[in-house]
Amino acid sequence: MPEMSVLIVGGGPAGISAAAALAERGHTVTLVEQRDRLGGAIYRQAAAPGISLLSRRHEHNWAGLTRRLEAVAASVRICFRTVFIGIDNTGQVLLDDRATGHVRPVRPGALLFAVGAMEHIEPFEGWDLPGVVSAGGAQMILKETGRFMDGRAMVAGSGPLPFAVAAQLAAVNRPPLALLEQGTPWRNPWAGLQLLANPAAAFETLSYARSLFLSGVLYRTGVRVLKATTRGDRLAVEVRVGQAKIRDYEVDTLVVGNGLRPNDVGLPRGSDLNGFPIAKAGDCREVLGADAAIADGAFAAERLDAVLKGERTASKEPRAVVRARKLQALLGTLTGSEPASIEDRTILCRCDGSRKADLDALGTGRSAFETRLVGRFCMGSCQGRFCRANVARLAGFDPVSLEGRGRGYPRWPIRPVSVAALCAAEIEDDPFQRRLETPD
Ligand SMILES: Cc1cc2nc3c(=O)[nH]c(=O)nc-3n(C[C@H](O)[C@H](O)[C@H](O)COP(=O)(O)OP(=O)(O)OC[C@H]3O[C@@H](n4cnc5c(N)ncnc54)[C@H](O)[C@@H]3O)c2cc1C
Repeated sequence: MPEMSVLIVGGGPAGISAAAALAERGHTVTLVEQRDRLGGAIYRQAAAPGISLLSRRHEHNWAGLTRRLEAVAASVRICFRTVFIGIDNTGQVLLDDRATGHVRPVRPGALLFAVGAMEHIEPFEGWDLPGVVSAGGAQMILKETGRFMDGRAMVAGSGPLPFAVAAQLAAVNRPPLALLEQGTPWRNPWAGLQLLANPAAAFETLSYARSLFLSGVLYRTGVRVLKATTRGDRLAVEVRVGQAKIRDYEVDTLVVGNGLRPNDVGLPRGSDLNGFPIAKAGDCREVLGADAAIADGAFAAERLDAVLKGERTASKEPRAVVRARKLQALLGTLTGSEPASIEDRTILCRCDGSRKADLDALGTGRSAFETRLVGRFCMGSCQGRFCRANVARLAGFDPVSLEGRGRGYPRWPIRPVSVAALCAAEIEDDPFQRRLETPD
């Protein structure tokens, strides 16, 4: 069999699992990761040794993945500090190699995205203030340093991530003042009981609950953050309990999160790019958690392998993926809540500081294109990772329509890149661009 080179973007469980599975099938693989370590969101490696917030199951799975990767090390080239920044007009994949300061255009034999999830935050007045941090950001600080910001913290939002972060804070002896859940899980006792059918998830939930209980963390449900303002050196956080009661908390750090979404901003759609196959695996395809990401990476590898060899592709999803989908639906039923109404003054886009009123000022007839170009929504350095879902919901657009599109692919760069790195790139001559520059 001839050697075939596959490019994988993302060194989390899905990317590692896919890399190992492809190499085991005889392919040569290049795995690019923006950070300087593998692990992704779940197996994020501590910067200081001896710190781990992983459960034993996750530790075991991580050890298994690294063993598999070591066994095929000769066929897998890993490039750290290398960021996928998009696809140019000629179909070349652009990688920002931050180690050398060069943008490298490449044409792989196949391309697999395993770039994980992005956080969803329902904006409220003051969510952009210093001291307000996303649940994922808080977890990153905790996992990498084993420490957290000084002073009093509070966790608010919905879903499993704020719950996990509050318990992890308690585990490093920094229990938050309170964990405020927007949803009302107790209204769905049947869904709660069904959780027991998934022993691993039930065990993880119970161990987090135990840690919160033993640390005396106040757990409240049906509570929504309305507003955060600065009061001296602290944050005054106004919350609504149920339908009416308003309460006020004073904290140093407010951790907020409303779930995870596939990190698909700027990724090409479809399964083919100028003749070479592309695929997505793990949370960037569907947010189903770490165990499913491992299975999904292997499944994507199996399908890519078949396409590259001209064989029939596998169609039956792995059981771990199907099981995880059911679990996520259950968790959604337990902690789901209606999205909040957003005040005019509330910042929607943190990159450009644009508010809800700025979106309304564009008028009802505005298109997604105008919303980007005139309103500058989804145009900042995050390219809509934080505001796209909220802007799309308020304006009634399909979120994908808020992505800038060139001819076929989302417009690059999808991540900030230095001008020097762009100048150092050897981007192939683009006949379309040449025609634009020298019209007849
Ligand atoms: C913030 C956060 C916290 C989480 N906490 C928990 C938890 O406590 N418990 C739990 O069970 N699950 C948690 N999850 C879910 C779990 O981490 C994921 O389900 C699992 O890690 C998904 O694996 P993945 O390989 O699909 O993506 P990830 O593990 O997210 O890996 C994606 C990788 O792609 C890299 N990447 C992204 N974009 C680019 C780019 N443009 N160029 C190069 N590299 C790129 C990232 O650096 C990352 O290493 C969390 C997820 C997130 C996002």
